[in-house]
Amino acid sequence: MNFTYVSLPTRVVFGAGSIRGLAAEVERLGAKRVLLISTPGRAEMVRNLAKGLALAGVFDRAVMHTPLAVVEAAREEARKVNADCCVTVGGGSTIGFGKAIALSSSLPVVAVPTTYSGSEMTTIWGVSEGGAKKTGRDPKVLPRAVLYDPELTLGLPAAVSAASGMNAIAHCAEALYAHDGNAIISLMAEEGIRALASALPRIVAHPSDIEGRTAALYGSWLAGMTISTTSVALHHKLCHVLGGFGLPHAETHSIVLPHAMRYNQDAAPEAMARIRKSLGGQEAAKGLYELERQLGLPMRLADIGMKEADLERAARLAVEAPYPNPRKVEYAPVLALLRDAYEGWRPL
Ligand code: NAD
Repeated sequence: MNFTYVSLPTRVVFGAGSIRGLAAEVERLGAKRVLLISTPGRAEMVRNLAKGLALAGVFDRAVMHTPLAVVEAAREEARKVNADCCVTVGGGSTIGFGKAIALSSSLPVVAVPTTYSGSEMTTIWGVSEGGAKKTGRDPKVLPRAVLYDPELTLGLPAAVSAASGMNAIAHCAEALYAHDGNAIISLMAEEGIRALASALPRIVAHPSDIEGRTAALYGSWLAGMTISTTSVALHHKLCHVLGGFGLPHAETHSIVLPHAMRYNQDAAPEAMARIRKSLGGQEAAKGLYELERQLGLPMRLADIGMKEADLERAARLAVEAPYPNPRKVEYAPVLALLRDAYEGWRPL
C-alpha cells in the first residue's frame, strides 16, 4: 500500500440548476471582465446562460482539436478585451480553448462542462498544428472552478453522449492499472465506471432522463479526476495514434477499449476484478463490448474511417514509444488487437 496521492485544487459545484451560481463563482475569483467561450453551434444558448455575468467579450469559434491558428485568435480576443477570466461552456473542445488561453496568460478558467470528456478536471492541455497535436501538463490550465449542471446536458444527442461516456469509462479503466495509480484514485475509478455504465443505457433510451444525466455527469467528473493525476497506458496510446489517422476521438475510445482490456486482462487481475464489480459482474473486456453494443455505438474501426492498409503502421507507431502498461507492448499482439478492433470482433 505504498503510494503517492496528489490532490488538485479545483472547486466543484454539482447539481441540477447549479448554472445559476455561475456569476457568483466568477465573483469569488474577483474577476470583472469575463471572456465567454463556446463552439459556434452552442453560441446562442451559451450567451443566454451568461446573462448576469460581467462579460467583456465572447469567443464563439471553439472547434475540435484546438488548432493553433484559432487558439491564437482566441488569445488575441482575450488580450483585446482585457479579460481577467475565461468561462467555457461546452465539451472538451471548448474547455481546450480556455486552457490554451490560460497556458499563455495564466488567466483563471471557470468551466461548465456539457459532455463527459473530463477535461475540466485535468492539467492537460493540447494544441494542434500541421496535423500533429502537442500536449502537456501545466497547473496553470486547471480550471479554478467547475460547475456541473446535468440540465445543460439534456440536449446532448444520445450517440454523442454514449461515445463521450465510453471515453470517460476508458479514463477510469486505465487509472485502475496505472503504474502511478493509488488507492484513492482506484475508488473514484471504480465508482466512475459503475455510475457511467448504469447511466448511459438510460440516457440512450431517454436522453432527457435527468437522473441518468446526473449519474453520467457524476461519473465523468470522477473519470476526469482519475486521469488528472495518473498516467494513461496502452489504450490511450492507441487512441492517440488512431487520432493521427483522423479518427473521431470518443468513438475511437469506445471501440478500442474492450480490446485493450482483453490485451491487459491477465497482467492486471486486480483492475479487471474491480471493473467486473463495477459492471455488475460481467468480465471487463466482454462487459464493455456488450455495453458498447447496447448503446448502439459503432463497433468496428473500419466503420469510423480506419483503413486496413494503415493497421500495421498504427501498430508500429504504438509500440515505438509505448506508455507504461501492465503487459509488455509488443508489435504482433498489438497488431492483433488493432485487427480485432478493426473487424469489431467480440473479445474472447
Ligand atoms: P466536443 O467538445 O468536441 O463536443 C462534441 C459536440 O457536441 C460538439 O459539436 C459540441 O458543440 C456538442 N455539444 C457539446 N455539449 C452539448 C450539449 N450539452 N448539447 C448539445 N450539443 C453539445 O467533444 P468532447 O468529446 O467533449 O471533447 C473532445 C475533445 O476534448 C478532444 O479534442 C480531446 O482531445 C479533448 N479532451 C481533453 C482532455 C484533457 O484532459 N485535456 C480530456 C478528454 C478530452
